[in-house]
Amino acid sequence: MTLKSIPISRWQEQLSEPLLIGGPCSAETEEQLLATAREIALIPQVKVFRAGIWKPRTRPDGFEGAGEAGLKWMQRVRQETGLLTTVEVANPHHIELALKYGIDILWIGARTVVNPFSVQEICDGLAGVDIPVMVKNPVNPDIKLWIGALERLNRSGIDKLIAIHRGFFYYQRDQYRNSPMWEIPIELKRLYPALPVICDPSHICGKTEYLAEIAQKALDLEMQGLMIETHIDPAAALTDAQQQLSPSGLKQLLSGLIFRNLNGFQEYQSRLDELRKEIDRIDWTLLDILSRRMKIVEEIGEYKKKKNITILQIRRWRNIIHDRLENGRKLGLGKDFLMRLLELVHRESIQRQMEIMHGKKKDLSE
Ligand code: PEP
Ligand code: MN
Repeated sequence: MTLKSIPISRWQEQLSEPLLIGGPCSAETEEQLLATAREIALIPQVKVFRAGIWKPRTRPDGFEGAGEAGLKWMQRVRQETGLLTTVEVANPHHIELALKYGIDILWIGARTVVNPFSVQEICDGLAGVDIPVMVKNPVNPDIKLWIGALERLNRSGIDKLIAIHRGFFYYQRDQYRNSPMWEIPIELKRLYPALPVICDPSHICGKTEYLAEIAQKALDLEMQGLMIETHIDPAAALTDAQQQLSPSGLKQLLSGLIFRNLNGFQEYQSRLDELRKEIDRIDWTLLDILSRRMKIVEEIGEYKKKKNITILQIRRWRNIIHDRLENGRKLGLGKDFLMRLLELVHRESIQRQMEIMHGKKKDLSE
């Protein structure tokens, strides 16, 4: 299914790419919200103010959000600062209230996107409503759930869509709160080139110290915006205190980022095209060589079968590794990379010879 998505610049006059969103994890008090918004409004690139009104907390004893009162404060933020507003919604009741208080953009949180029942309920609540919706990636690294939520919204008539990359929970932890797994948003962009994808470095990082590198990487990967948690007094925040910037921290972060031309500068484009063509040619040569290697592997397989020789010959495999790693090193190829590549090729070779031995033909369409 294709996705219908209208470019951000056509949503509202004041919006353009890159879309920059700032604001606290949670709306806590009217003073906290307004003080944060007033400072953020002084950063001209930031056009949208975020705040969590209902907070999905892991444990039942945490701060669960200000609820409807928070929406009233958001309305004041909009009136006073002119910033557009966005809040997380997790059910039709949230949507109804957000609309009542004139919220401009809705977002669906990572914990909601994992559940198609909840996403469908939200979509049903949005039928007939023309409002932009941002969809965070699900907590678990499943691109299909992410796409499914976007498709459901499309079916309910929502075509102002943004996907938000906020990282994934993964059992092998790295230094980040949520692993970025960049390959997933890249694949989303490959599948749906017209869909705007922005990054939420705050929930990826979990700590402010990594924000700049993650935000820059997102921009370098042609993401069309950033959502960054910003609190007037981060240390006193009731939720996600470690990852929130102060408004001046946000200003500093943004001024240190390099916003490259999203489509590449004209003068660099032809050089880039040239280099890409060279990569294309090299990849074709690589495929050709791999295919030739496999054909020889199969020939050897036939021979082994005829002569009744075992497939895996450890001494030969050891020699191959030693020789290829040594030569690879001279060619500037890292040991880890080469080892993984050799193992992959070796596994496929063994598999092919096994099939020959047992008379099975591999289904290459898999
Ligand atoms: C948030 O943006 O504050 C939030 C709860 O994020 P996520 O859904 O990505 O965890
Ligand atoms: Mn948060």
